[in-house]
Amino acid sequence: MAEQATIGLIGGMSWESSAQYYRLINEGVRDQVGGVASARTLMWSFDFARIEALQHAGDWDALAGEMAEAAKALERGGADFLVLCTNTMHRCAQAIENAVAVPLLHIADPTAGAIQAAGLSRVGLLGTAFTMEQDFYRGRLEERFGLEVLIPEPQDRAAVHGIIYRELVTGQVLDASRDVYRAVIQRLVARGAQGVILGCTEIMLLIGQEDSPVPIFDTTTLHAMAAVERALGLRI
Ligand code: GLU
Repeated sequence: MAEQATIGLIGGMSWESSAQYYRLINEGVRDQVGGVASARTLMWSFDFARIEALQHAGDWDALAGEMAEAAKALERGGADFLVLCTNTMHRCAQAIENAVAVPLLHIADPTAGAIQAAGLSRVGLLGTAFTMEQDFYRGRLEERFGLEVLIPEPQDRAAVHGIIYRELVTGQVLDASRDVYRAVIQRLVARGAQGVILGCTEIMLLIGQEDSPVPIFDTTTLHAMAAVERALGLRI
């Protein structure tokens, strides 16, 4: 059997979602290969307190430097390609690509692929305020994949962002917050969303398909499965 590629995971943003990546990638390899097979991975796991402080200070240059250093360490360690386990930090995707020779598997690409495969073109986006409001993520979906991306109204964006940073990254999964997200999803659907992107890697801890009347696209799972596919040289 051909050897697996080694996946370099840039994680810790937060570790709650990195743990999901680790589980999903290993389960994916086991499902494909069988037996006791598991994934070949390296993970760089940041202290999220430092990352979160830089994000809210708007110091994206410092964050780009941190991401580039992590990418280089993983490349030195033998990673064949990189997976950045957060949507938000894809704001620094270019800095990573500039720092290393190995490819970065961009989280928006398998997400857009799944939306297209479902035959949808207008989707709602839930994530941090950075992901919902800045262009680095929506722009890629719109320009490279021709999708129309709807974001929640300002009050709903603040609620979605607050629940991520106050609760989900610290492992708190609250029914009241699930209700908030369900209501935000309903309002996106009322505005014409045919599907909803869980565009923050912790949202899948709170929300599942049962919480939405339209298909949901969980970036954590889609990204992890794309990593398995690439590591094994498959199309799943
Ligand atoms: N994991 C989240 C994301 O996918 C938010 C935490 C972060 O800012 O990295 O955007």
